[in-house]
Parts: sequence; structure tokens; C-alpha cells
Amino acid sequence: MRLTVVGCGTVVPESDRACSSYYVERGETRALLDCGSGAVQAMARLGLPWERLSHLFLTHFHSDHVGALPGLFFAFRHGIHPPRTSAPLEVWGPPGTRALFEGLAATLGDFFVDPGFPVSIRELAPGSEVLTGDLVVTCKDVPHTPESMALRLASTSGAPALVYTGDTGPDESLADFCRDVDLLVGECSLPDDLVGDNHLSPSRVSRLARRAGARRVVATHIYPQFRRATDVAALILEAGYAGPVELASEGLTIDLQSEPLPPST
Ligand SMILES: [Zn+2]
Ligand SMILES: [Zn+2]
Repeated sequence: MRLTVVGCGTVVPESDRACSSYYVERGETRALLDCGSGAVQAMARLGLPWERLSHLFLTHFHSDHVGALPGLFFAFRHGIHPPRTSAPLEVWGPPGTRALFEGLAATLGDFFVDPGFPVSIRELAPGSEVLTGDLVVTCKDVPHTPESMALRLASTSGAPALVYTGDTGPDESLADFCRDVDLLVGECSLPDDLVGDNHLSPSRVSRLARRAGARRVVATHIYPQFRRATDVAALILEAGYAGPVELASEGLTIDLQSEPLPPST
């Protein structure tokens, strides 16, 4: 399983990063997690196959997580040469995703529901399990907006696994959802003294990673004023998580190795 950070920004526009978007590839599965503003251009910059996505997962409806959907679907319809006419795309998102796409289609054009190839738009419920053929994707409701979800992606054998928190406030049950993950992509929006109930901070990420037994942390969705003023990774480590911790940046790629297959008999 390979994760590439497409965008790790917040609602604050920045010159060096698109908004939230992560590309995960395993086997035939090419999944995009969130599609925040700037994500399509960032995928093009990184040489990622935006035109061949097989799955799109959305965590919630803030524009720094869904703002690039119009550009992506308009490009699906008019920006692929020769056009993509087969290979279905599965869109999965929280309750309201279907209404979101139907509303966008009614206003901007039917390419949202008919980009020229088969699209299915389906809604996740907490605990839903989606099988892509290469990955098992499960979700958990998190405290941010009413529809917000965190996503756990595991190989079909169970390991390796990663969790993307999306945007979330502190939630004691999130550690169970993140149990023993190889990689925790955790939002770390704001410093401990400024964070509210709907985001995480270094000590909250540290506590989550420590309780979950996460093997590695990528901190993301860090507000620019905070990121520029402070060593956020150091703060997470100082708060008790043993590491390793790194900060998300455009193009950061992490390969998670599958467990070796048992010897054939
Ligand atoms: Zn956000
Ligand atoms: Zn949000």
C-alpha cells in the first residue's frame, strides 16, 4: 500500500500546498481520500493518475476537503483524451454525499453523475465496510461536523493498515479505531492553547497515537501560522508519543509493506 500526500492544507490558502487530499494505491485500487481545493492540479504536478481513479472517499463537506470536486469531474468529462468510457468509479462519503452530487449536477452540469463512464455514489454509515478488491475501508464518525468520518484502510489480509482522521476533535473511542495501525495520518490543526473541540493539537495527536499503538505518525492539516512558528513534530514527541513523527507535505510518499505471505506447502 502506498500513500502519497496530494494536499495537506487547511482552509487558509497557501502557496506550497493544496487542501486536504491523499492518494492511496494498492493493486488495482487507486483511491483518493478527500478532494480539497487545489487537489487536481496537485495530482497532475505529482504525476498521479487522476484520470484513472477507481475510488473516491470523502470524510466531510468542508471545502478544504471537497472543493476540487467540480474541477475533477469536469476534467473527467472533458479533460481525458481519449475519453474514459469504461472502468467504474465508486464514490463513498458520509450521509448527504448523494444530495451533494445531485445538487452540484443540477447547478453545474450532469458530469457529476455522468462523467462519461460509470459512477456509483454511495453513502457510508459509521462502521461501514467497503471492499475495493485490494483494500478494506472502514469508517467511524468523529466529532467535527455532524457528518464527519475517519477512514481506516487495510490490505485485504489485514496488514498493513492506515488511518486518516479527516478533521476531528478529541474522541476517546478513536484510539480503538486506530488500534495498531502502521500509519496514522492525523490532523494537528492548532496549538494546544488555541484548539477547540473540533480539531486536534500536538498533545491530542500524541495521546491518540500512544493509546492506539500507532507505529508511525504523519501530522497534517496544520494551520500555517502554527506550522511556521513551531516544530510541530517535536511537540508531538514531547507530549509522550515515541515516534516516528513527520509532517505532511505535498508529494510525501510512504510505502507500507505487506506482511510476507506464509511459505507455500
Ligand atoms: Zn479541514
Ligand atoms: Zn473540516
